[in-house]
Amino acid sequence: MRKPQYRKNNRSIINAPSVDSSFYTEEDEDIEPKHGTTVQAGWEAASQSLKPKASGDYPNDFRFTESVQLVRFLDNAPFAVYRQHWIDREGKKSFVCLEAECPLCHIVGDTPRGKFAFNVLVLTEENPTVQILTAPPTFARQLQAVENDPRRGPLSKHYWAISRQGTGPQTTYTLDRVRADDLAEEWDLNPEKISSLADEAVKYDQKSIYVTPRAELITVARSLVS
Ligand SMILES: [Zn+2]
Repeated sequence: MRKPQYRKNNRSIINAPSVDSSFYTEEDEDIEPKHGTTVQAGWEAASQSLKPKASGDYPNDFRFTESVQLVRFLDNAPFAVYRQHWIDREGKKSFVCLEAECPLCHIVGDTPRGKFAFNVLVLTEENPTVQILTAPPTFARQLQAVENDPRRGPLSKHYWAISRQGTGPQTTYTLDRVRADDLAEEWDLNPEKISSLADEAVKYDQKSIYVTPRAELITVARSLVS
């Protein structure tokens, strides 16, 4: 299957819908339809979206901790790239931004943050599970640097010890490479077993990112400005 051809332009994700019918060139008819309109995949999408500086983070399933967690990335790129609103309210607080159609942007004036979702196999748990690691832009930049560095990448090649320090805008992420050879010695893990787990893992995809219907977002937005 051909790789998607992305248009090389400087379209800002902030000022335009992040995905529209012209996002792919006309030659890409064999590409599967996008789910939703605002969740993208791959480093090309990430590059556009890594530009705005964002603070804070809101991981979904994988919980960043100060203690080190060992993970294996199951892909070399995020499976979903989108922006997310965080609204301090009763009930559901995080909402995928609908970009040009977004009531939280246009009615409330809230600024969404970039989110980059990766499939990871978390190995520091008793039973390793696939989780969604949702990276904020700061951490996504570190991951992209790994991917682009021939000595450290691609992302899914090695294992990574991840931890988080600080909170809010001062949050920093530590990303240390662990070679397969060191798994047994340093982490008491069986590299072959982990590799086969990774191969068999059922991964999340863009459909795993819930996009709240616009009508519902309008209701939320109106409740915030009334
Ligand atoms: Zn929005």
